[in-house]
Amino acid sequence: MNFRYKIMQFMSGRYGVDRLFYVLLYSAAAVALVNCFVRIGVIQFVVYALVIVAFWRFFSRNIEARTKENNIAIGWIYKIKNKIRIHNERKADTMHVYKKCPKCKAVLRLPRKKGTHSTICPKCKNTFKVRILK
Ligand SMILES: [Zn+2]
Repeated sequence: MNFRYKIMQFMSGRYGVDRLFYVLLYSAAAVALVNCFVRIGVIQFVVYALVIVAFWRFFSRNIEARTKENNIAIGWIYKIKNKIRIHNERKADTMHVYKKCPKCKAVLRLPRKKGTHSTICPKCKNTFKVRILK
């Protein structure tokens, strides 16, 4: 029996690598990098915990539970990426400003005109003042 076959036999029925595995390892690397500059002892335990959890998931035989965890993590990653994308799009839009309605919290896209204006929310018909600085 060669070494490769033994590893394949050991890994059969185990969960293996997924997206959350990489997220945990990259997070551990990022925290370790921060720890190089900050030097707080507790941070080192966070690094160990992230690596241990990543490899515990890697060798786990409970594939159903690990898949659920991975799907939850993918949902979070998607939400974070979407928020960053929306933020960048709004930042790049120089013709408009984005303001929240104080009553219903809907985001309104308004033309960028300097000064104080009165606005009507199209969702809840609430009238409120908007101050645009530049
Ligand atoms: Zn509203």
